[in-house]
Amino acid sequence: MKRFIAILLLTSTIATAADAQLIYKEIKSVAPVVVTTPEGTAPRLPFQLMVTYADGSNELRSVRWTNAAPATEQALADAKQTPAGTSYDVRGYITGDNTTTMGFPVTAHVSVVSAPYATPSNKPVAEPLPLNRVSITGQNRLTHNREMDIDQLLSLDVRQQLYNYRDTYGLPTDGYPEADGWDSPTTKLKGHGSGHYMSAMAMAYASCNDAQKKAQLKANIKTMVDELRACQERTFVYDKALGRYREARDLAPENELRELKGTWADFDRYKQDYAHYGYGYLNAIPAQHCVLIEAYRAYNNEQWVWAPYYSVHKQLAGLIDIANYIDDKAIAQKALLIAKDMGLWVWNRLHYRTFVQEEGSQEQRRARPGNRYEMWNMYIAGEVGGMAESLARLSEMVRPTPSPSRQGGEKLLNGVANATDSERLLEASTYFDSPAFFTPLSKNVDAIRTRHANQHIPMVTGALRAFRGNANPYYYNLAQNFWTMIQGRYRYAMGGVGNGEMFRQPYTQILSMCTNVGTDWRDRSTYPEPTLNETCCAYNLAKLTKDLNCFRPNDASYMDYYERVLYNQIIGSLNPRKYAVLYQYAVGLDASKPWGNETPQSTCCGGTGVENHVKYQEAAYFVGADTLWVALYLPTTAEWDAKRAVIEQECEWPAERSVIRFAKAKKPFAVKLRVPYWATERFDIRVNGKSVAEHYQPSSYVTLPLRRWSTNDRIEVIMPFADHFDFGPDKMEVAATGKNEPRTRFEPAWCAALMHGPLVMAAEGIKTWEEATMTMGNGKWTMDNGQLKMDNGQSKAVSAQPLERSEALPLTGERGEGLKWVPDYDANRHVTHYFRLLLPGEPIAVVPEGAEGGADVDDTRLKEAMQLARSRRDAQNAWNELTVKVPEYAPWAKHGYARLMEQFDRARALFDDAERSHSQEAIDAMTTELNAALNTMRPGNLPELEDLDALLPLLAKAREQQAPSAKLREAIDYAEMVVKYVSDGSGTADMIQRAERQLREASK
Ligand SMILES: [Zn+2]
Repeated sequence: MKRFIAILLLTSTIATAADAQLIYKEIKSVAPVVVTTPEGTAPRLPFQLMVTYADGSNELRSVRWTNAAPATEQALADAKQTPAGTSYDVRGYITGDNTTTMGFPVTAHVSVVSAPYATPSNKPVAEPLPLNRVSITGQNRLTHNREMDIDQLLSLDVRQQLYNYRDTYGLPTDGYPEADGWDSPTTKLKGHGSGHYMSAMAMAYASCNDAQKKAQLKANIKTMVDELRACQERTFVYDKALGRYREARDLAPENELRELKGTWADFDRYKQDYAHYGYGYLNAIPAQHCVLIEAYRAYNNEQWVWAPYYSVHKQLAGLIDIANYIDDKAIAQKALLIAKDMGLWVWNRLHYRTFVQEEGSQEQRRARPGNRYEMWNMYIAGEVGGMAESLARLSEMVRPTPSPSRQGGEKLLNGVANATDSERLLEASTYFDSPAFFTPLSKNVDAIRTRHANQHIPMVTGALRAFRGNANPYYYNLAQNFWTMIQGRYRYAMGGVGNGEMFRQPYTQILSMCTNVGTDWRDRSTYPEPTLNETCCAYNLAKLTKDLNCFRPNDASYMDYYERVLYNQIIGSLNPRKYAVLYQYAVGLDASKPWGNETPQSTCCGGTGVENHVKYQEAAYFVGADTLWVALYLPTTAEWDAKRAVIEQECEWPAERSVIRFAKAKKPFAVKLRVPYWATERFDIRVNGKSVAEHYQPSSYVTLPLRRWSTNDRIEVIMPFADHFDFGPDKMEVAATGKNEPRTRFEPAWCAALMHGPLVMAAEGIKTWEEATMTMGNGKWTMDNGQLKMDNGQSKAVSAQPLERSEALPLTGERGEGLKWVPDYDANRHVTHYFRLLLPGEPIAVVPEGAEGGADVDDTRLKEAMQLARSRRDAQNAWNELTVKVPEYAPWAKHGYARLMEQFDRARALFDDAERSHSQEAIDAMTTELNAALNTMRPGNLPELEDLDALLPLLAKAREQQAPSAKLREAIDYAEMVVKYVSDGSGTADMIQRAERQLREASK
């Protein structure tokens, strides 16, 4: 009986899905790609292309280019090999297509020219309307989240946020609760949470409509600012011998620096010595910890440092946000003064004590302390966040002459302005350049692969902000190149990036997702883990995108991406039932969001998390001289002071229809409206009832020319959510499928997330990749074993439901035997985002040009993987041969390296087979294994899951104790946290040792 019902449901489902046009369409053609590239750069190739389907319709689809192998890309960027005047082709494939085994083939014709990149002016043509000029209106998820975030902020004790500062400056801490999370007494990232707390309060103040809450926020902000200034003033120490105040450069000169230690005992000693920090130092850890970086001290919480400049950045950012958003001049001015004095401390220290030397071996580069090339290239320890961004912004804020870039941006506070200070702060911003990362990017060579994701994204935002001040195209170009690489090579459908905290290889999102494993305290086993897309990365990519949009606001791809990451990952990273946010997001099969991080200091993502939900409107509108860009369709009221205009946008969220009116508009301006990339069906813009065009180009802006808008004018944007697939760049071939089963092989299949307009749709109730497999027929869905039932009607209905704050979030629909589809922002537990799509047709095998002896097999990918394996082997061998180990860690951690070498030997045996009798299947299988081994390796300073072998049994035994003592309970909590961090890739060996020691001692 049950079976019969299932069949009936299936039939009706097919009809619904077909109506919604969610069908496999055959690509007929793709417009040719013709690009020029400056000599010495790899070509800028588009990450998406407009395709024409057999039925005549068009859509933007992702393309994977074949030049991503490091050697290939470097050769293209080598002026000797491709000088100006030469030209060449790069082959690419539209992914998710069955024309060939690689996809639908496209070719880019590249001409090398001598002219450099055409870089925009360093004066942005548009700026976002400031946060406090745009207010989100109505009762919806956005306002619900905002209020929840504000209430959470108000529930925090401001004195706890001040504990570490008082402790670092010799002030009594009675009545100040000890900080916790990553600001706790056992961590050296203290101050990061307080910085986020200040930013979040300033943004909450700008976004809040409740007078009483605003007053409370202001009181707490004032307390922070007053107390921080009191701490900072303790560093104003006049030195008679020097004949001036003690400065940053006076702390630990080179001979002392070499002897400086980083243990907790030293930490406690340094914090008594605040009189030597140097004029203006402001941080929740002693100044000696910033200085230790100059001696290349590694990320090691017990013996050395965590990431001292990371905390400094959060505090600067917090103070700048306060200066920009608080409408009390005295508070704003004091906040800016504290930030400026600290910024100048940084300038002083780095100006006098550091330098850049790029040449030579690492040992030579580290012969003397203070080589910034090495300092900022250290894993985690060199994580400087957006130091450059904050310093460049400070430079703009204290520049005495008004600058155009300040319009709509930074606030000028006269009392703090000073021309020399402004110059020094701008100079200081470039002290955070990382040539090892920046220079390849400036040539469009991928320097992203295998780096720590969130260590590097904010550096790029910093480079772009410095460009406003120094007008050096190097900075703009590297930022633009980075952004494009992220789009094509690294992002997932919801806009996030990273596995654990790491970038993997380019174009391996599906492989990385499917082979991600972790462990927990249960036993020494590995399990599939959906721990992808760290929230901080989404936060920082959104910021970078907003900032890039200022320079080229007519390129809609920026705000298409901003919408993607905001509507899916960022809004989806707050639990709307009870305040909790996400560290890692959850992406993949049967993935559950790991809620937690309730305070700004809990983790890095607790910090960015508390900021995220009070600033959804920060990029809704951009303004230029005479143009208003409506970049996001959000229910809002916006004020544009320069035009004495009030713009009202009425819509639900998410919106399929929006109405824009002008409550006031004293001066004329043009309006530009974004046509989203997904708006392929029945999109229309009507002004006073009349359509403005017959056809609209997805991913573009429609211009309504300059005019004096009246209160009677009515702009209507109609944008039905078109369903489409967001294909990953690589096929799924292998996956971790269960306990200790990291490499189950699958028939290669394209994988995609189902998108409903801008929304990633997630399905509940799928447990295996077999269940997540759909066979697609020509022109309609067919389901595999009746396992997958789509209810498209329902997914449409839920998206338009406004949320009543008191309701228990009814944004999901459930039907009988079918699947429950939910927009991912609303998903919670056990949802699947990516599906294996078996496409119709028999693809043509791709045979590379010049294949030897007419071979009918393609070994290009295997060759690429082997080349990469060889370069890793060489790097590891070179380090092994060093007599003095500089750096102290090998390039690659040993277990992952051993797995790679095993696969590499097997690949070589296959490749060197003189008979060449191997099949395409054998080559593909080998490629998969080798890529999986490459992709799951960790840098040598990071522990691997195997390094938990001693800790896990101790933990399991401790958990068995019936009535654990408080001490044991604490040791268990710490150990569980360490296991989680090691799984994610942020734990360190010293954390494991500490966890083991604590468990042993507490179990006695
Ligand atoms: Zn984070």
